[in-house]
Amino acid sequence: MTNIILLGPPGAGKGTQARHLTDSRGMVQLSTGDMLREAQANGSEMGKKVADVIARGELVTDEIVIGLIREKIAEGAEGGFIFDGFPRTLGQADALGELLAEMGLSLDAVIEMAVDDAALVARITGRSTCGGCGEVYHDETKPWAADGKCTNCGSTDVKRRADDNEDSLKTRLMEYYKKTSPLLGYYYAKGDLTSIDGLSSMEAVRDDIAKVLG
Ligand code: AMP
Repeated sequence: MTNIILLGPPGAGKGTQARHLTDSRGMVQLSTGDMLREAQANGSEMGKKVADVIARGELVTDEIVIGLIREKIAEGAEGGFIFDGFPRTLGQADALGELLAEMGLSLDAVIEMAVDDAALVARITGRSTCGGCGEVYHDETKPWAADGKCTNCGSTDVKRRADDNEDSLKTRLMEYYKKTSPLLGYYYAKGDLTSIDGLSSMEAVRDDIAKVLG
């Protein structure tokens, strides 16, 4: 069983690689972004509370996301967990360490997917996902088929995130550099960090991650 963190700015490809790892290795993806969007879609009180913060591209409180992760870790995962978009602050990183220790689990690797900002704007602003299965599309690099059906599940439900626009992205990047990038030093000092080139092809990134996982 392997537990890993995928670390990188919005648009680095964390979600895409996490999906691949769930399919190929039976790992469980824990994306706090997905959980928060689900809470919004369900119309829960918490979902309503965080909607504006997310739309602006700011981070929601540590308390909320740590609560979400605590519940999921308690459910366990035979193939291990992929933490995607969590932790995003040093407080969250400390909390994750404690939660894993309480469950007798360890963190096996932290993989930084390094990309430059210029590539992120293009990646994010053209992004969509399938509402049926979560398959990730991009207007330029992986467009929807002419019949409008998802090649994976046949759904025609094209989803675009409200925060995937240039304004929110600016804030999301600033939040990343101010609050999340210090985690690179934190995990480097613990000896857990491996950096890979997130700008290479999806397959090359898959291979690099596979090498780290062994
Ligand atoms: P993501 O899908 O990971 O890009 O997350 C979308 C948005 O959800 C972020 O811009 C934040 O507003 C919020 N969010 C997701 N994960 C976290 C986290 N670990 N800490 C704080 N806010 C988060």
